[in-house]
Amino acid sequence: MPQQPAQPLLEIDRLTRVFLSRQGLSVTRLEAVDDASLTLEAGKPEIYALAGESGSGKTTLARMVLGLERPTQGTLNYKGRPVGDLTPKDKRTWFYREVQPVFQDPFATFSPMKRVDSYLYETARNYRVAEGAAIEKRIDEALGVVGLTLAEVRGRYPNELSGGQAQRISIARALITRPSLLVADEPVSMLDASLRMSILNLFKDLRDSQGVAVLYITHDLATAYYTADRIGVMLRGWIVETGPVERVLGNPLHPYTQLLKSSVPQADPDKAWSAAPAEPPRPVKFPVSGGCKFAARCPYVMDRCRQEIPGSYEAEGRHVKCFLYEPGFSGVRPTAEAVP
Ligand code: SF4
Repeated sequence: MPQQPAQPLLEIDRLTRVFLSRQGLSVTRLEAVDDASLTLEAGKPEIYALAGESGSGKTTLARMVLGLERPTQGTLNYKGRPVGDLTPKDKRTWFYREVQPVFQDPFATFSPMKRVDSYLYETARNYRVAEGAAIEKRIDEALGVVGLTLAEVRGRYPNELSGGQAQRISIARALITRPSLLVADEPVSMLDASLRMSILNLFKDLRDSQGVAVLYITHDLATAYYTADRIGVMLRGWIVETGPVERVLGNPLHPYTQLLKSSVPQADPDKAWSAAPAEPPRPVKFPVSGGCKFAARCPYVMDRCRQEIPGSYEAEGRHVKCFLYEPGFSGVRPTAEAVP
C-alpha cells in the first residue's frame, strides 16, 4: 500500500475568528483573526513566533490553537484532526496532553495559598501520565529539563520563588504530559532581561533536545529574532509577512514590518538584539477600509489598496500580503532603509 504523507503537526488555513458586539440595535463586527494561514510540519520541531502589536489578533489565534476559542471560518487541524470537532473526551485524553499552554504571568497561574508542587502532581494525575511512585519520577524528569529538581521545589509557595523559577516550574508543568507543541503567550514579558534570556534559551533547548515545537506569541521583535526559526507578523488579524526570521526581520519587505522594525533598537552584530521595549507598543487605531488594512498609514499606498484586499505573494523566500509583491508588479518597491 502506498504510504500516506505525514500530517502536519499544526495546519492553519484561512482561519478567521469574528467577534460581534451589540449595543442597542447596532452590531459591531471585529475580525480578531482574519484569513490567517500557517503550518508547522511534523517531525521538524521549530519555534514559530507570532508577532504583532497589542490587538493584532495573536492571542486570539493562540487561544484557537489551544481549543479555547472556536474558529468562525477556516481550517485548524492538529495532526490532521480539526481542533473544533474534538469531543471533551478527545481533548482530555489526547489533545491537552499534546498541546500545552505557557502563560505570561506564572504567578497568576499559581494560587498564593497552594504549594507549587501540588500543581505538578495534579497535572500528572489528571492526565494519568504515570502511576504510584512513577509520578514523582516523571515530575522530577520534567523539572530536570528546566534545570530544577523536585527536592528544590517541594513544599514551596509561589512567594518563595523568583519570577524565573516560577516560569520554569510553569514550563515543567506543561512538559509533564510530554507535549509536542507548546503555545507560549508572552512568556517572558514579565521577566527582567537576564531571566528573559534564560527562558528563551530554554525554549530553544526544548526544541533541540526534546523535539518540542513552540508557538511563541510576542509583541517584541527582538526576542522573536533571538528565539524563533520562523515568524508571522500580524496586523489587525492578518499575517502580513511570514518566513524565516532572519529574512523577515533582517530584510523586511512588507511596509508594516518595516515600520515595526524601525521602532526596535538596532541589532547588534551577534544577533542578540539589545533592549526589548519594556511595555508593549500602544495599539494603533486604523480607520476601517475595504482594502488593505494598512492603507491609511502606508507610505506606498496605491489607489487599488483602498479597494482590494491584497493576496499573500511569495517574494524573496517568504510570503508578503501586499500588492507591491504581486507577480508582475513593475513599480518601485520600498527598502527597509527607506522607512520614514
Ligand atoms: Fe501598502 Fe498597498 Fe501594500 Fe497595503 S497593499 S501595504 S497599502 S502598498
